[in-house]
Formats: sequence, C-alpha cells, structure tokens
Amino acid sequence: MAVLSPPAQAPTITDALRARRLLADHLPPTPMWSYPALDAAAGHGTTVLVKHENTQPTGAFKVRGGLTLLAGMDAAERARGIVGYSTGNHAQSLAYAAARFGAPCVIVMPVEPNPAKARAVRALGAELIEAGADLGEAAAHAERVAAERGMRLVSAADEPDLIAGVATVYLEIFDQAPDLDALIVPVGGGSGAAAACLVAAAVAPRCRVYAVQSAAAPAAHDSWHAGRLLTRPIRTRVEGLATGAGFDLTQRIMRDHLTDFLLVDDDTIADAQWRLMRDAHTLAEGAGATALAGLLAHPTHFTARRVAIVCTGANASESELRATPWRGQGPEGTSAPTN
Ligand SMILES: *Cc1c(COP(=O)(O)O)cnc(C)c1O
Repeated sequence: MAVLSPPAQAPTITDALRARRLLADHLPPTPMWSYPALDAAAGHGTTVLVKHENTQPTGAFKVRGGLTLLAGMDAAERARGIVGYSTGNHAQSLAYAAARFGAPCVIVMPVEPNPAKARAVRALGAELIEAGADLGEAAAHAERVAAERGMRLVSAADEPDLIAGVATVYLEIFDQAPDLDALIVPVGGGSGAAAACLVAAAVAPRCRVYAVQSAAAPAAHDSWHAGRLLTRPIRTRVEGLATGAGFDLTQRIMRDHLTDFLLVDDDTIADAQWRLMRDAHTLAEGAGATALAGLLAHPTHFTARRVAIVCTGANASESELRATPWRGQGPEGTSAPTN
C-alpha cells in the first residue's frame, strides 16, 4: 500500500528481461491460441488471440511476479521470509514462490476466508493468519507481523519486482505475435496492465494497450481517467478485480502508456466466461474472462485488428462454477430455456 512506504521506483524493460531469465528455470511459456468462434463473436474483422495464463501451476499469471520477487531476494532476506495479504491469487503466488525457494511465508486473510482459497495456501506450506474484517485490516495486521518477525511485507500491486515478473507475460506475447495491434488486460490493482504498458512501449510501440475493469468496482478506471488516486466501493462479484483504490505505482505507469481504460458489467464478464469455456475449451475465473468481455462490449475499438486478450486466471470458486457462467446462455449466444 502506498501509505506504508515511500513511492516505489518503476521497473524498466531491463528488469523485465532479467525476470524472464530468472523465470526460465521455473515456468515454461504459456500457449497463445486463436479460435474461429471467438473471431466470429468479436465480428468487425477482428482476430482474437487468447493468452492462456490460466494454465500456470497456481492457475493465474501472478505466480510470475511471486517467483521473480523471491528469486531476487538474497539468502538472508529469504531466510527471514515474506508476508502477504490477499484473499486470492496473489496469496497463492507468494506461497508457491516461497515454497520453491524454501522461504517462510505468512499470508494474512480477512476472517472467515473462502475455505478453498485458505486450503490452497496451506497446501503450499504457508502459514495462514485470519485477521481483520476486510483486506485493509488484514493489510494492517500483515504490516505488524512483518515488523515483529523481521519478514518482508509484499504489497499486492506497488511492488516493482512483481510488475517486472508479470511483464514476462507480455514479452512472451510479442514473441508469439510480433504484429499485434492491441492488447487487452483486466485490472484489479493494475500490475498486469502496468506491465503490459512497460513492455509494449519498449518492444511494440504501435501496439495499443487497453485496460478493463468491472463497472461495479471502478477505482482504477476512475483514478486513471481523473489523473489522481481515487477510492470507490466494491460491488463486483469478480474477486480478482475487487480493489477499492487506485495504486500509485501502477497508475503512474498506466498514465504514460495506456491507450484507454474500459468498463464492463459483471454479467458481460459471466457471458465471456461461458464463451471461453464453449469456444476456447478453457476455464476462466471472472477476472480471467474480463479482457474478452471488454472486447465483446466495445467491439468497434478493435475493427480489423489483431488483438491479444489475457486469460489471466482459472481459479473460479466452486460456488462461482456452479452458479455464474451458465446462466441464460444457449447455443450461439441465444438465451437457453431455463426449465
Ligand atoms: C490479480 C488478478 C487480476 C488483476 O490483476 P492486477 O495486476 O491486480 O491488476 C486479474 N485476473 C486475475 C485472475 C488475477 O488474479
């Protein structure tokens, strides 16, 4: 959180290239495929490429950041360990990376967390502490734990090493499709979109970068359009996007390079989840389908363009799997009978 520390230094393309070297020993590149049915859904002569970050070992792109952070720590710092606060994929990323590097890891979650997410973090060997009514209170507790135990506190977005690690997604994308016209990235705290901006500006300056957020939690969107950090209520069902405030570092990077910041509603995100399942044979959690939702909600931005959408994660909770994506969508996007 920006209030806990001085302004963080923005990572550079050199940091991203260094992260790629570090990650080469740990993660293979993820596939990127196109699907005629998604091209047809987009219409307007658009070619859609799906970057499958949902196939990462933790089910989300964030593991690139966690591994990069741990790989960059010296032995003494690693031995003291890391503390994170998160309800979701950031927690699993830190726990996974800490286990890989033999570092102690504490994750603070607000009380009564989603049992599946708590189990996943414990299964990776992290110590789970339940504290606080919301993520802000959990963050304050995490700060105390870090101070008491001499561990490193890891923010969810304002961490240059996390952004540099996540930037390797975009290095891979431009390796796989150098002639891309546009990239669409879902935003919570903004590390993914900031990383996309960083890489596109350096290696593909003609490629446009679009960020997408849920209209039911628009803090990053509103902050970017206003040019200052704003807080907004969180009403979205989409966990990976449930962020109530803009972050300083990611907003600074997006300010320089982002083409536009779009909003979509939660139902459009659920439709996009269904389309990814049906047309791309792939499981996306809500946040993982948000880039496609942005494309389908704003198709004329992408007329006749080659567009990569990042399917950022697959960690849909069981209740989300049972309830959300299948409502109302029948063959070819028509409403299915609800008998
Ligand atoms: C965290 C997350 C996002 C949002 O990424 P930020 O870097 O916080 O903007 C999107 N999708 C998934 C699956 C995530 O876990």
